[in-house]
Amino acid sequence: MRLIETLEYHGRAVFVRVDFNVTVGDDGSVTNDTRIRAALPTLRYLLDAGASALVLASHRGRPKGFDPALSLGPVVERLAMLLECPVSVLPFDLAEARRVVGAAGSGTVFLLENTRFYPGEEANDPTLASSFASLADVFVEDAFGSVHRAHASTEGIAHILPAAAGLLVQREVRALERVLERPERPFTAVLGGAKVSDKARVIQNLLPRVDRLLIGGAMANTFLLAQGLEVGKSLVEPDRVELAGSLLGGDGSEKLVLPIDVVVADSLDSTDVASVPVKAIPASSAVYDIGPETTRLFASEIVGSHTVVWNGPVGVFEREVFAPGTYALAEAVAQCPGYTVVGGGESITALGRSGFSDRVDHISTGGGASLEFLEGRALPGLAVLGYANA
Ligand code: ADP
Ligand code: MG
Repeated sequence: MRLIETLEYHGRAVFVRVDFNVTVGDDGSVTNDTRIRAALPTLRYLLDAGASALVLASHRGRPKGFDPALSLGPVVERLAMLLECPVSVLPFDLAEARRVVGAAGSGTVFLLENTRFYPGEEANDPTLASSFASLADVFVEDAFGSVHRAHASTEGIAHILPAAAGLLVQREVRALERVLERPERPFTAVLGGAKVSDKARVIQNLLPRVDRLLIGGAMANTFLLAQGLEVGKSLVEPDRVELAGSLLGGDGSEKLVLPIDVVVADSLDSTDVASVPVKAIPASSAVYDIGPETTRLFASEIVGSHTVVWNGPVGVFEREVFAPGTYALAEAVAQCPGYTVVGGGESITALGRSGFSDRVDHISTGGGASLEFLEGRALPGLAVLGYANA
């Protein structure tokens, strides 16, 4: 993969694909600037290297055409504050934008409007990619969360300009590569969350690589069902029972660890909760968390590992009564002396609430991109930079 260090930036305009897909509050201000902060090292690197201009581009949300509610306008102020330099919004018309960039003084930072406002972005239209490319001399890809998409601003443009991976992309790729390709053993994966269907390919790619694969969350229910157990009103995927069964009977099945006890209640709103062995789940209730025995078992596997990758909460942590399993695993990951990686939108939220975020070695913010990387798939935004999965 071509790295940021391999290109020349002095006196050149750089088109930087960043991930500024932030949430904005009712008052129009950015509510969580983690993604903006994550881009800063690359932006500072390019400014220090003498770039004449930075043209920052990102999508925000899923607009169908122009939608003022999904403008990148709210990012400007926060970015300027964090970067400690002025940031100006480019004209929407790309020919005009080109003139503005051309006339800029050295080191000017520009922000392009939401890339998905431009027809052709998601279709990877080569004409749009050329128009984006005409704004700059080089391209730096730093939106790890978008590298699984072949869009004009993530993939198309990299065929036109000299292109390299930014520091955030490098950090994410190194972390995920380290667990997939050079894990120190024992290597434990923990998968939870809502659906087997979301993570089936992750299980299939990880199982041959790990020493243990712990399964929790609603996903575990489908596995319990495949074992012929009663799961009551629990969230399950009936059309994935067969897949779960084949994983339980297939190669590497001895590495799969399922819950031995669970926390059940009649409904999500119920405060009348109980821990029961998986063989005794009442038909009238649903599983909302792993039980204390399972928590101890999973935590001791995690603490004793030299590599841990965790994706997916093991319970409905959004409700305090069903959060203990997830929080206890967060603590175990924090205590693990080995290399630890946590990824997934809700997983990161849960980790944050547990208070253990800063004791995890790498938090993979890529969402869909992180999952596809763990699935072992080629990601178009990386492949175009010369990256090949092992
Ligand atoms: P991530 O975003 O970390 O990849 P997912 O999107 O796969 O995770 O799943 C997260 C969701 O799974 C959480 O909102 C959580 O409430 C839900 N979940 C976990 N365990 C259960 C369960 N036993 N029953 C229903 N939902 C669950
Ligand atoms: Mg999620």
